[in-house]
Amino acid sequence: MKKKYKPKYPLVWQKDDFFIKIYCSIPNIATGIILTTERSAFVIDPGDGILRDLNRDKSAAEILAISDIFISHGHHDHVGGVWSLLTYLSVMKKKTPLNIFYPEGCIEIESIYNAFLQVYSHELTYKINLHPINNSRSFVRKRVKIKPFKVNHKEIDDDGNPVAVPSLGFKFTYNGKSICYGGDTAYTETLVKMAMGSDLAIIEAGAEDESSTDLHMTIEQASEIGKTAKDYFLVHVPD
Ligand SMILES: [Zn+2]
Repeated sequence: MKKKYKPKYPLVWQKDDFFIKIYCSIPNIATGIILTTERSAFVIDPGDGILRDLNRDKSAAEILAISDIFISHGHHDHVGGVWSLLTYLSVMKKKTPLNIFYPEGCIEIESIYNAFLQVYSHELTYKINLHPINNSRSFVRKRVKIKPFKVNHKEIDDDGNPVAVPSLGFKFTYNGKSICYGGDTAYTETLVKMAMGSDLAIIEAGAEDESSTDLHMTIEQASEIGKTAKDYFLVHVPD
């Protein structure tokens, strides 16, 4: 029998003060990633358990310093921890604003935000800025350049047909080094281009087998893309 590939979480990569840690990325369960530099702390895809993982790893002051959240798409395994993270930041009296960047049309984030405000707006200690974005422009946060790019992620509707979900990958560049995170995606040329030459590529390999490459990539497809970067992690591999 073919031995199953299994990433060993957490996955950590660092060049000088450009640091990324993937606490986990398990399909249908959770993803959770933190990206930091000397002067910034971002969270990417806060799935269920992100607060537990951050709390184990970081001081309360470090968690309060998180300024930006990046969402690749609205599936529960990528956003399941948003509510608890937002609540924790308020309970701990965060004062600085929190920006949430997410693909435009991602109703999950907007619904969580609206419900959250309904419950907590009277006691919220910090400002939440929602930023629906697309692949049209790059921007800079805390000296990190972020280039969002379109990927190809689908879900199956009630009739069994695949429908596209608003989804983005992100390329983070800081001090001449770059990290490319593809989010969830089937094989797509955009990701091939963005990953190529990156210092680190984080590529999903979520296809159970060749028959599900409409939705995710196989280990072979993902490795092929990963190898064009200087270093790579395969994530989102089925358990
Ligand atoms: Zn997904």
